[in-house]
Amino acid sequence: MKIGMKVAIALGLGIKRNAHIFIGLIAGMIVGAVLHTNIINNHNPQVTNTIMAILNFIGQAFIRLIQMVVIPLVVSAIVIGVASVGDNKQLGKFGTKMLLYYGIITVAAVVIGAILVCTFHPGAGVQSFINNQTSSEIQAVVAHELSNSKSNLLNQALLLIPKNPLESIAKGDMIPIIFFVLIFSIALAKVGDINRPVVSFFESVFAATMKVTDWIMFFAVPGVFALSATAIAGFGMSIFGSISKYLAVVLVGFLIQLLVVYPTLMKVFSKVPVTTFYSAIAEAMMVAFGTASSSATLPLTMACCERRGISHKVCSFVLPLGATLNMDATALFQTVAVIFLTQAYGVELTIFQIIQIAVLAMIASSTAAGIPGAGMITIALVLNGLGLTPEQLVLGFAFLMALERVMDMFRTMVNVTSDAVVAAIIADNENEIDYQLLNNPESYKEVI
Ligand code: ASP
Repeated sequence: MKIGMKVAIALGLGIKRNAHIFIGLIAGMIVGAVLHTNIINNHNPQVTNTIMAILNFIGQAFIRLIQMVVIPLVVSAIVIGVASVGDNKQLGKFGTKMLLYYGIITVAAVVIGAILVCTFHPGAGVQSFINNQTSSEIQAVVAHELSNSKSNLLNQALLLIPKNPLESIAKGDMIPIIFFVLIFSIALAKVGDINRPVVSFFESVFAATMKVTDWIMFFAVPGVFALSATAIAGFGMSIFGSISKYLAVVLVGFLIQLLVVYPTLMKVFSKVPVTTFYSAIAEAMMVAFGTASSSATLPLTMACCERRGISHKVCSFVLPLGATLNMDATALFQTVAVIFLTQAYGVELTIFQIIQIAVLAMIASSTAAGIPGAGMITIALVLNGLGLTPEQLVLGFAFLMALERVMDMFRTMVNVTSDAVVAAIIADNENEIDYQLLNNPESYKEVI
């Protein structure tokens, strides 16, 4: 049987086990489509508005609940992860492997994106569609955003270093937080036994945070239902038809990542059974789709991986970093979206410019935090200097904004999958995986 088919079946089985979340997702989409029709036809506006307000409340409450545990989880996981890896050699090995695999996956993503968009030319002939679709309010917002985001690469790099780590924690700026926590944890690992009280403290924080996550997941079904309903109510199903070629190119790119790139990587570098692993993480994939946030999904990604035998050491080191830095689907999306816009406006790109877009997309995507819409903000970095006029930039950007939520849901699902895949491969390489747990879907390890 072809690997794609096997993966699809595994996902199906994983979804079956998590049928309640999957049903919530699909039911949410159907309700969203009905609400969208009501909004467009101004049918029963009062009832529709009330339902929308309730759904919005439920969805946002779910997202806020999981966001609430993200910072304590990331901080405690990295401290424990680095301290438990301990010696320099193993830390270096984990770090190098992580960069290598995340790197391969991201390069594959931009190459696939560039090849697909240059082959199928989804942008050809859609200029007037873009101009008609983008309303003037969005254009005004976008013009403002674009003028704010003129910062160059060096300025962006500077922002990675927190002036005051507590301020970054208060603001929830994940990348500076990780920067500080990584350095702090390496220092902790170096000072020897004196670090015990601090490490034990974070071990308790981690355990309690995972417990809270467990409780929050009781709300996963209504949460995912409400999130998908409000998302679809906003743009309706017709969006899938109107610029189908562009959407199809991005989605085919994501499918190639899921069904070809990750399985190949797993086969070449590890003996992790692809299908079993996909079914093990199906729950995290669905929550990623609903929340459009890798960071918010992180507690669940960790739970899925640890429950099925990937060691705590690897999970707590690789997954928090991946949820913030590894955004291969975002890089693929940014490459396709930017080249799509240049096609729409008839700007001829040289091969050098295409490579430049791909490289910038790799950088821009990893500076995107794992929150909804982050990839759309950092795309400004990739859009610079491509021969589009400021008006075209504003229009194009506003057009991409209109499709943002649906794109974000898909790309987050893929981003989260690749984080888990890399964790599994590293765990295999380092003998940090319990294959008995992984291969037996019914035997779960209690994470807490
Ligand atoms: N929402 C995505 C994530 O959390 C990032 C993005 O906007 O592309 O993975």
